[in-house]
Amino acid sequence: MPELPEVETVVQQLRPLVQGQTIVSLRVLDPRLGRLPGARLRQRRVSTVTRIGKQVALALEPRTGRSLQRRGADPGWIGIHLRMTGRLIWLPDERSREPEHVRARITLGRGKLVFADLRRFGTIAIGARRIELEPAGVDPLSDQFTCERLAQLLRGSAQPLKVWLLRQDRLVGLGNIYACEILFGAGLDPRRVAGRLRVGEIERLHEVTRAVLLEAIDNCGTTFSDFQDAHGVTGSYQRYLKVYGREGLACPSCQAPVRRIVQQQRSTFFCGSCQARSRR
Ligand SMILES: [Zn+2]
Repeated sequence: MPELPEVETVVQQLRPLVQGQTIVSLRVLDPRLGRLPGARLRQRRVSTVTRIGKQVALALEPRTGRSLQRRGADPGWIGIHLRMTGRLIWLPDERSREPEHVRARITLGRGKLVFADLRRFGTIAIGARRIELEPAGVDPLSDQFTCERLAQLLRGSAQPLKVWLLRQDRLVGLGNIYACEILFGAGLDPRRVAGRLRVGEIERLHEVTRAVLLEAIDNCGTTFSDFQDAHGVTGSYQRYLKVYGREGLACPSCQAPVRRIVQQQRSTFFCGSCQARSRR
């Protein structure tokens, strides 16, 4: 499942290819995606490609001239959520072979963007305004993610910290991998009660969350230099990870073996010494 850094990488790689292009058609091949207003997307120019939470979002330029009156209800945003197995694949010309499991196809003036998705959990949302695609949680790379906001979100929670970090209605885009890496970076025990962190610990958590995500985006960018690979490869970035998937291996800071426990049916990897409960 792609986490925030992978989605951001897809966005950054798609942007120069798709930005400024005009949509020729949007074709839905999988009825499970629902009815999308394909006709109203025709001849619309993509002003930019950006990330909204974990969605890859295409912003459309407002129509000009006669049809301007309809602008309020006109589609302004296309948000593609990759979920478990969704991939966005860029095909530069007619001769490029489409992958398997294509569920939708956006044909542009030059090239095609296909949405392939083996397990079909991915979604495409169309909204008039950006806010319609905004998720409930706070994006940890946005300006809204301040230390005060994090403290506010944590307040009163009785959940273990690691479980809390996965809540998409609190922070958007963290999955199992980066939740473990962030807690290691912050030196916090994943079993700590989320609502009971001290001010200094919240500050550390805030700082490390951004740092880990930004570093992961850098690593994704260099690992997947080729666009096609960006969506076909999973796991090769794991060599950058410090604790995730490393049970029994030496902690990169203190050499103690990395531990694995299960929290809400998901593995948590941590260093029992660097992330000791009593550590101040
Ligand atoms: Zn350690």
